[in-house]
Amino acid sequence: MRSPSPIIVLGGGIGGLSAAIRLAAASRRVILLEKNSQLGGKMGRFQADGFTWDTGPSVITMRQVLVDLFAAANRRLDDYLTLRPLDPLTRYFYPDGLRLDASQNLTQMAEQIARLDERDVEGYLTFLSYAARLHRITGPVFIYDQPPTWRSFWRVPFPDWFKVDGLRTMDQAIRHFVRSPHLRQLLGRFATYVGASPYLAPATLNVIAHVELTGGVWYPQGGVYQIAAALTQLAQELGVEIRTNCPAAEILVTTTGKRPQVTGVRLANEAQIAARQVISNLDVTTTYQQLLPTFPMRPPPEPSCSGFIMLLGVKQQYPDLAHHNIFFSQDYPAEFEAIFRQGVPPTDPTIYVAITSKSDPEHAPPGSENWFVLVNAPPIGPEFTWQKEKEAYRDLVLERLAAWGYELRPHLISQHIFTPEDLAQMSGAWRGALYGSSSNNRWAAFLRPPNRAGNIQGLYFAGGTTHPGGGVPMVTLSGRVAAEMAIREEPLQ
Ligand SMILES: Cc1cc2nc3c(=O)[nH]c(=O)nc-3n(C[C@H](O)[C@H](O)[C@H](O)COP(=O)(O)OP(=O)(O)OC[C@H]3O[C@@H](n4cnc5c(N)ncnc54)[C@H](O)[C@@H]3O)c2cc1C
Repeated sequence: MRSPSPIIVLGGGIGGLSAAIRLAAASRRVILLEKNSQLGGKMGRFQADGFTWDTGPSVITMRQVLVDLFAAANRRLDDYLTLRPLDPLTRYFYPDGLRLDASQNLTQMAEQIARLDERDVEGYLTFLSYAARLHRITGPVFIYDQPPTWRSFWRVPFPDWFKVDGLRTMDQAIRHFVRSPHLRQLLGRFATYVGASPYLAPATLNVIAHVELTGGVWYPQGGVYQIAAALTQLAQELGVEIRTNCPAAEILVTTTGKRPQVTGVRLANEAQIAARQVISNLDVTTTYQQLLPTFPMRPPPEPSCSGFIMLLGVKQQYPDLAHHNIFFSQDYPAEFEAIFRQGVPPTDPTIYVAITSKSDPEHAPPGSENWFVLVNAPPIGPEFTWQKEKEAYRDLVLERLAAWGYELRPHLISQHIFTPEDLAQMSGAWRGALYGSSSNNRWAAFLRPPNRAGNIQGLYFAGGTTHPGGGVPMVTLSGRVAAEMAIREEPLQ
């Protein structure tokens, strides 16, 4: 039976949709409020001049997390989405001319690695088993369950404590396994999946390599946005009341009882909706700053990196490129130094190019390709203002691509740029962070704001800034954690 009072979910990003689905599947009445006209949050879609682009995530891993979400609602993922495995996972281009296709196929990987340094074949295989072990040990405590506390360590069997590898950096651990600078750079790049630096993030995050290199990368037929569309359909089928173009202005709280208690939400149009539980899918910092200005929060955690995005419609096709491509910078440490220490975009950036028209030809007109170009950038800060530098940085990236042999400028028939400031404005991401709070700290998992507000009863969080972190699978899991907490702590009607 449905409870009479609704639970409000603020924000229709993937974490918000996941929470709403879990709640509705457990027969709760749910109202989801989204400020934009489309759901999905950072998982966006943009169409112009005959091209379709995914504007946010492009690499989808951990398929099982989505399978589980649909199963919680007694549905089959395959009835809503066709997820195709991609091979190669990513095509890597190095400044010295080397090209490497990362693959789950160990024979193919071993052949390519042997050409770099034969000793690295065994090093790579040992690294993979190390990363699988990290997943086995850390998964139940840091990823798939409630937010960890210091006591969580007691759930890790004592012999495994030191295998969590939290004291070295990712790069230090990788160096221990493989010698080739090419392979080190490739494995270190997984830090950027959570917006971190391999030279600062704890080696525990080498678990991400396991998730991709062993678990694989999936592409939803029709585009990554199909995930948001499928979750929206499922939420609607379960009876979630979805209101788009409906920004929340304030989370209403009464302070008359023993503890401040949520009483509802005030919308930007001044209407109020009563509710004793609210799950905010906004960044935790944005929630406090914009919707709870009188409530103190702990100092905001450092944000992850942001990104500079170019959506390019190219009247040309490039058969030598794959669906996912990486053009590595010459000096990887300098790139992260610029982003995280100097707070400026790198002058020699690693450039990521995803071309979904390789898998979905209708995403571009005949003879053309839809390039999604992403360069890691510092979170918004005092050191750099994009407004003045946007065109100059676009020119720099196009120049770099031309130097790689991809002179796109004569073939561009559509181009759209999104800076960290645009990202902050579109999704409410604090300082434009792509992946929530920073993982450049060995204590990040403990410093991340938990899924329950400590100072307001009835307020929960789902999304990239809370447990278990950023990225599509993680925010999907955060929705589950927040929904389960809300159900467990439901007030009596
Ligand atoms: C360019 C880019 C590339 C990425 N690449 C990958 C990738 O390859 N793989 C991967 O796994 N992850 C990737 N990510 C990260 C991933 O997209 C995010 O971690 C995830 O989508 C964030 O989901 P979320 O639940 O935190 O919500 P968000 O997407 O942050 O959504 C929050 C929602 O709240 C809404 N909102 C804000 N304020 C209000 C308000 N006042 N009232 C109502 N609604 C409001 C926003 O409009 C938005 O819809 C990428 C992100 C970006 C931007």
